[in-house]
Amino acid sequence: MKLILLGAPGAGKGTVAKLLTKLDGSVQISTGDILRGAVQAGSELGKQAEAYMKAGDLVPDELIMGIMEKRLQEPDCQKGFLLDGFPRTIPQAEALKQLLAKLGIELDMAVNIDVPRDVILDRLTTRRTCSNAECQAIYNVKSNPPKKEGVCDKCGSPVVQREDETEEAISHRLQTYNDKTAPLIGFYDKEGMLLTVTATSSDAVIDAIQKKLAA
Ligand code: AMP
Repeated sequence: MKLILLGAPGAGKGTVAKLLTKLDGSVQISTGDILRGAVQAGSELGKQAEAYMKAGDLVPDELIMGIMEKRLQEPDCQKGFLLDGFPRTIPQAEALKQLLAKLGIELDMAVNIDVPRDVILDRLTTRRTCSNAECQAIYNVKSNPPKKEGVCDKCGSPVVQREDETEEAISHRLQTYNDKTAPLIGFYDKEGMLLTVTATSSDAVIDAIQKKLAA
């Protein structure tokens, strides 16, 4: 399947993407994970992105499109892909449309995961992430803590609170989402490819996606 996952930070895009990869071998492409990996590696991309990310601002569109143009042409995308955290702005959505036309790729749909703001806030402040750039497993101190406190179940690396998950950065990220990313819902609705799922359970989101794909 070839999907865009839309939704505010904390809506569950990453969790849903990971579950969907198990269904048909589609790959999860998270621009946030790619950027955090680049920051940790100290690469040129990481250096350019770091300050924006720390502040909860969006990284410039040109940098993101450069990453995505390369990533979508890697062989593992042939079975399908789940775009998690991309596109984030109307210019990115327009550039993606052109890029996909150039590559001869057709998307199935854009899924808008709609979760109430109080749930989002609670999830983001209690979310913890594996600090290993190769892993980036996600935990929640209340609902899904690692078996050993502060240690990743999967790879044994420290589990930390992301620098952009302080209360100040979270509220800025949510504002940025409302201003820059929420307009994509209208964009994909006009394109006739929007599925909105109002649900806080990732299983319910997966169900709705599978039903729509089968229809
Ligand atoms: P995420 O893990 O998706 O919440 O992304 C973390 C941070 O990476 C965001 O707050 C942005 O600074 C940056 N980022 C991720 N994806 C994008 C994108 N498509 N466009 C611009 N910035 C992005």
